[in-house]
Amino acid sequence: MTKTSYIKLVECYEKVAATPARLEKRDILADFLKDIKQNDPEITYDITLLLQGKIFPPWSEKEMGISTQLIIKALSKLLGENTTVIENKLASVGDMGEITEELVANNKQVTFFKVPLTVAKVISNLRKTEEITGSKSQNKKLNYLLELYTSAEPIEAKYITRTITERLRIGVGEGTLVDAIAKAYDIDKDVIDRAYMLSNDLGEVAKRATESVESVKSLTIQPGKPIRPMLAQLSPGIKESIDEMKEVISETKYDGIRVQIHHFDGTTKIFTRRLENVTNALPEVVEYVEGAIDDEDFIVEGEVIATKDGKPISFQYILQRVKRKYDIDKMMDEVPLKLFLFDVLYYKKPTAEEPLEKRRQLLEEIVTESDHVELSTMRMVTPENYNEAEELFNWSIEAGHEGIMFKDKTSPYSPGKRGKAMLKYKPIRETLDCVITGGIYGKGKRAKFFGSYLLSLYDEDSGEYKTLVHAATGMDDEMLANMTDRMQEYIISTSEQTVVFKPAVILEVAYSEIVESNEYESGYSLRFPAIKRVRDDIGLDQVDTIAKLHQMLELQNS
Ligand code: AMP
Repeated sequence: MTKTSYIKLVECYEKVAATPARLEKRDILADFLKDIKQNDPEITYDITLLLQGKIFPPWSEKEMGISTQLIIKALSKLLGENTTVIENKLASVGDMGEITEELVANNKQVTFFKVPLTVAKVISNLRKTEEITGSKSQNKKLNYLLELYTSAEPIEAKYITRTITERLRIGVGEGTLVDAIAKAYDIDKDVIDRAYMLSNDLGEVAKRATESVESVKSLTIQPGKPIRPMLAQLSPGIKESIDEMKEVISETKYDGIRVQIHHFDGTTKIFTRRLENVTNALPEVVEYVEGAIDDEDFIVEGEVIATKDGKPISFQYILQRVKRKYDIDKMMDEVPLKLFLFDVLYYKKPTAEEPLEKRRQLLEEIVTESDHVELSTMRMVTPENYNEAEELFNWSIEAGHEGIMFKDKTSPYSPGKRGKAMLKYKPIRETLDCVITGGIYGKGKRAKFFGSYLLSLYDEDSGEYKTLVHAATGMDDEMLANMTDRMQEYIISTSEQTVVFKPAVILEVAYSEIVESNEYESGYSLRFPAIKRVRDDIGLDQVDTIAKLHQMLELQNS
């Protein structure tokens, strides 16, 4: 067992949280990591995850499975306090971490054998909760929590809670942590960044960085460990994009769900863009892929769409399929699926860093197309023949697809990055994916429901959500009722007609124009906002950002 005390990490959290300056945050983190390397290098992996507020790496399917309710139960047991008293506090304060600190500080019960917590103990207890299943599992989880809270100083208890709720609130984005790792171990930032993108495991990167640069450089993409998808920027228009990008791979944009398909050791796993494993919900897609590509280790990417009589149908159907846990056979008949592949990131060896043109060639070589699996429809275009892209666009829309993509043929796959190497062009008006942070009860016969939602975007600079607009249009009575039910568990506080929500549920909102506004924290608002759909297919880390809003504004004004 390594020896680093948990309070040492907590002091680092507090120091980082106390300064708003990004560079200072980076330096504090770098000094801390250096110190760990000197005194307890073995804990580097765990420390790095904890600095991200995680106990498992993002590629892992493991989850603690501890609800806020269970934390409240543990605290109530520890302190002999009624759970409703704690729930009421949560409703008024909002941050369960702060409440934990306060409660533990006021704890009158004397503990005789208080053992100082180590980082290893905290992470080991939290990890153990993942393994518990079956009857009495909640009780067993509760005991692991109690053991930690009993030994914790108030400030430690605060961060244990925040780690469980995955909200550290110390204002550290992953960019800052990447910079800190680069500085701590004196390794080029791009080397760290690359290793992180391809491994999706900053703990592993930091651990290797304590060994050597070569060790970091040898880290690469591996079947079985999903990576974050490369993202697309908005294209201002067909001609403009092709003029700028010169030689472009132009493809149909399909309206389904993006899948990253990993095949290794003879088995296939399908992950969504949130890296959720949806293999069990899509058995026929596994069959299609295994029928289309040889039994080698590979990672391919594509879009699965729902079809009827061979034609694409609404996105909502495919979402239903992915969420389905039961009666999958019945749904397979009712909603047939089709897979369009557009990238290959691994085939016998890593290919993610090869230029797209080569990856596409490889895809053409390894995939045997059928009624169920096709490669995305593609044209190579240049400014001289950009009308071919227009033809592809028109064809795509007529065929019931969503639009087209423009891709830089020389570009490597850049996981998690939204850059100029991949653009999307859609005919419909623009939309933003906003998180719900507030709500207002309706009037008249809608008084029991939230009639309007306050929507926010993520501000990368402050690490907070900033309000943007109230949206009410677009919800029918059924959606109003469903959403009202669903939002109950996220209520932080209520005052008369207005409710504050914990950011959790994402709505796609269409609008006609971005306008300046003093009313909202973002400084902007949207004209004619209309709720299009709930985006359960993406996670909080993919909520649109203030930076994206600025980019859309630029496009709007250009
Ligand atoms: P958006 O979801 O609006 O950010 O648009 C990007 C998404 O388009 C990707 O995440 C994919 O799910 C989807 N998509 C559909 N067709 C393609 C394609 N041919 N290439 C890349 N992405 C595609």
